[in-house]
Amino acid sequence: MADISYPHRELMAVADNLKRYLEQEREDGVTEVEADRAEMKKLSDVPVRPAVAATRPAGVEPEKPAKSRPTEADGRVALGRLAEEAAACKKCVLHKTRTNVVPGQGACRPEIMFVGEAPGADEDEQGLAFVGRAGQLLTKMIEAMGLTREEVFIANILKCRPPENRQPMPDEMAACLPYLRAQIGILKPDVIVTLGATAARGLLGVETGITKLRGTWMEFAGIPTMPTLHPAYLLRNPPAKKDAWADLKEVLRRIGRQAPPQAASK
Ligand code: URA
Ligand code: SF4
Repeated sequence: MADISYPHRELMAVADNLKRYLEQEREDGVTEVEADRAEMKKLSDVPVRPAVAATRPAGVEPEKPAKSRPTEADGRVALGRLAEEAAACKKCVLHKTRTNVVPGQGACRPEIMFVGEAPGADEDEQGLAFVGRAGQLLTKMIEAMGLTREEVFIANILKCRPPENRQPMPDEMAACLPYLRAQIGILKPDVIVTLGATAARGLLGVETGITKLRGTWMEFAGIPTMPTLHPAYLLRNPPAKKDAWADLKEVLRRIGRQAPPQAASK
């Protein structure tokens, strides 16, 4: 492994500690990190030692700065702000009938982001994405991939429930898409998986039927995107689970993971 110079090592140790601390907080049920402005001001006033430049031998090129990547805490704060904005949103008619806005939840830097259609009754009630029957199947699918719900991010095209679970209208999807776009910008997932025809249409703008479209790599904002079947459809149509499983295995292959040996299309 390349030699990591002193300031880098120190910074990595600090980052590691911060990550562990935040993970612990999350396990303890903390969902938002509140920044103390006075403390942050103090931190930003700490002088930075110019150690690297001073000790570099003549003729040695400076290391290229690592590609800047927001920290977990930055991501959490940015996601929280978006969720607050959505909670106050009145950009489409659905704000009138929602109980809770459902921004989506999960890891701040996930390998995989799942995008569904819109919240249903359970989601509207709890303010969380995919917690009803379809959500339970999605959990099983994620676990069959060797992951947990906490390791991925789960969201929807629409953040508010359409009454009687009717289909989202094009103007509602257009009004709501900026939230999802902003989330994707913060999360920078390695892969997006869209669930069902409406999610594929909403995010990718494709009209192809989902049974034809599924299993084919697409792209959203430069991110490989795999359209697959919606878990609610799989509940009505269990034989189609093998197709969804083939798509998820392809997703795993793309991110360099393998399904755990016991996993099969359940
Ligand atoms: N179906 C969806 O598309 N999203 C949910 O959050 C729940 C059910
Ligand atoms: Fe706003 Fe989206 Fe809810 Fe419509 S569905 S009110 S655009 S958050």
